[in-house]
Amino acid sequence: MLKSIELCGFKSFAKKAVLNFNTPISSIVGPNGSGKSNVAEAFRFVLGEQSIKSLRGKRVEDLIFNGGKDAPRANRASAKVVFDNTRRIFNVDFDEVSIERVIHRDSVSEYFINGSPVRLKDIIELLASAHIGASGHHIISQGEADKILNSNIKERREMIEDALGLKIYHYKKEDSQRKLEKTEENIKQVESLRREIAPHLKFLKKQVEKIEKTIEMREQLKNFYLEYFKREDEYIKGEKDRLTEEKRLPQAELHRLEHELRQAKDILNKSESKDIKSDEVMRLEGQLRETRLTKDLLVREIGRMEGEINYLDRQYKKQIQVATSVETKNVDLSAVETLFNEVSLEIDQGNASDDLNIIKGILNKIKGVLKDFVNKNKDNRDEESLKELEREIVDLRQKKAEADTELFNLKNKEVEFTADYNAVKEEIEKEKDSNRDAEKAVFRIMAEQNEINTRLASLQNREDRLITDENNFKQELIEAGVLVGVEAVRYKEVAFEMIPEERNRQDERRKNIERLKIRIEDAGIGSSDEVLKEYREASERDAFLEKELVDLHTSSDSLQALIKELDDKLTTEFKFGVDKINTQFQDFFSKMFGGGTAKLSVIREIKKKRKDTDLSVLERENMDNESDSGEEESEEGIDIEVNLPKKKIKGLMMLSGGERALTSIALLFAMSQVNPPPFIILDETDAALDEANSKKYGDMIAELSKYSQLILVTHNRETMSRAGIIYGVTMGMDGISKLLSIQFEEAVQVAK
Ligand code: ATP
Repeated sequence: MLKSIELCGFKSFAKKAVLNFNTPISSIVGPNGSGKSNVAEAFRFVLGEQSIKSLRGKRVEDLIFNGGKDAPRANRASAKVVFDNTRRIFNVDFDEVSIERVIHRDSVSEYFINGSPVRLKDIIELLASAHIGASGHHIISQGEADKILNSNIKERREMIEDALGLKIYHYKKEDSQRKLEKTEENIKQVESLRREIAPHLKFLKKQVEKIEKTIEMREQLKNFYLEYFKREDEYIKGEKDRLTEEKRLPQAELHRLEHELRQAKDILNKSESKDIKSDEVMRLEGQLRETRLTKDLLVREIGRMEGEINYLDRQYKKQIQVATSVETKNVDLSAVETLFNEVSLEIDQGNASDDLNIIKGILNKIKGVLKDFVNKNKDNRDEESLKELEREIVDLRQKKAEADTELFNLKNKEVEFTADYNAVKEEIEKEKDSNRDAEKAVFRIMAEQNEINTRLASLQNREDRLITDENNFKQELIEAGVLVGVEAVRYKEVAFEMIPEERNRQDERRKNIERLKIRIEDAGIGSSDEVLKEYREASERDAFLEKELVDLHTSSDSLQALIKELDDKLTTEFKFGVDKINTQFQDFFSKMFGGGTAKLSVIREIKKKRKDTDLSVLERENMDNESDSGEEESEEGIDIEVNLPKKKIKGLMMLSGGERALTSIALLFAMSQVNPPPFIILDETDAALDEANSKKYGDMIAELSKYSQLILVTHNRETMSRAGIIYGVTMGMDGISKLLSIQFEEAVQVAK
């Protein structure tokens, strides 16, 4: 319920003036120009009117008291309305609600709700909750009685929406649309951010995959190593034991034979029957022994050299393998530039020629250049160290060849000596002389020695191989420690089920290890920790953005749903409201005119945005219907149909001034009754009515005042007579409006 309005500095109300409205109908009367309409305007002003023009001003200053004779101009204008809110017509938890607006000459507006500064938006929302909308359908200014009839269909729709209290849905909808736009903008931003980081993330992911693969390969290598080492260690130990064991017997035997030989030779030396043959046997024995000893040493030396050559060969091949593996290869930019220049030159030549054969030749040349480039860059071997290795190998081969020749000679010598020796041996055997026992013993011993030495030599061979294996083993342990870490050399701590196997299985393992080593070296990842960290951060950020995107889409969806819901609500409630207004409209209208029909209808008007209709435009439209419909704009609004009783003419255009006033009053009253606003201000709406109609108007006002408080600016006696309070407004020589509460009879006087 409206309690009061207080004006201060507003237009002609220079001094503080308060109007209390504690009856259903209040009247404001007074002579022309005394400031009555200023009071009505003060309502518009305080409720947030933004158009200065509709407050009959050009600038904000026009709303502030501009001074009069002996009265200084004011610097501020304010208006404050106070409502009783015990029935909670406003959606706030106060029994009284005051709304105040203050303007200064510097054109700043301030708004207050119950004394607290607020934004205009807050005022509008608060008012909307009480069906007091911005279109101000409930404040009819002077001369605007038929405003609703003059408005276009869209403006009418807005007024009716206001009256039905649907504006609040519009605000909500606009708010949601703004949020939706912002959300969509955010979605675009987040999407573009994700697109931006995507390539980097992809790159990092590849790096990380490489790192993970290397880690995996290291783990695999470690496991290879562990089994390899464990088996190798076991093999070396076992082989050592076996060799010691196998050597023990022949060595003892050899010992014994040497002792026997010494004895036999002693006998021969001391013997009286010692002859040339005996000497011969001893000499040959010595020569053979020496030759065989040298030969054995040489065989071992050759074996050692072979081992070394093998090792160096392997090193050589490995270096080349690493250098020529294709997994990762960096090429100098300058090399690429050189290639580019070279190819460009050829292409230029090709461009300059029309001869297909020449061009084909150039193409082949380019192919060759590219092939060379690829081949050259495939291979980044270290030529220096390879040459060094090569030299060593050649050197060793040379030495081995020499040793082979020497061995060959020695073998010949051995054959020679053996032949001589066999000859002597045969002769002596033939003699069947017991004196020759000693000689025979020498032969036998030597034969046995020879046999045992052969056995020992092969054992020695195995021992040499074992030493090489052991050296390789130690070398491999060091490498493994560097490449994989200490875990790889802790084979002793690992329990394996050692199924016996062929020795060459270890060679296979070794090859696998070599292959894996090369692949790990190829991967050549630098500071993996940093890459991992960067990847983690980047993917976390991406995941965050992804989640954000999901959230944004969710809120976009729910905003769209909300907008749809609001639209639906607006449509149904609007239709429902219009139906209700129509019932009242018909009722009021027939009361006013003693019959007839009046009706609002919701229509959709299609507006063509075409400016002219010259032929070219028409032709274009005929050809292209799509663009035609694109230039159309449809608009939903309210049409008013009236039918006066006993008159054939139809439509608003045909109404007289008084009829227009009556029709709009009927509509206004109908709207107000369906959804009553807390108050209605009518500024001389009754001006055009004759006495009979004034009476009907007065009756309807009395009816309307049951629902809404009425403030009526009027000169009409009938209207005044319906008021509970009458305020008289006068203006003296000083140009300041003054207020006084007066009696009806007085009012009739004042109004004149
Ligand atoms: P009517 O009965 O003819 O409609 P009214 O009582 O409604 O008259 P208003 O239109 O409310 O009169 O008042 C107009 C008066 O207010 C004029 O005298 C005008 O000079 C005065 N007025 C308007 N703006 C200002 C201002 N900023 N400062 C001082 N006086 C002003």
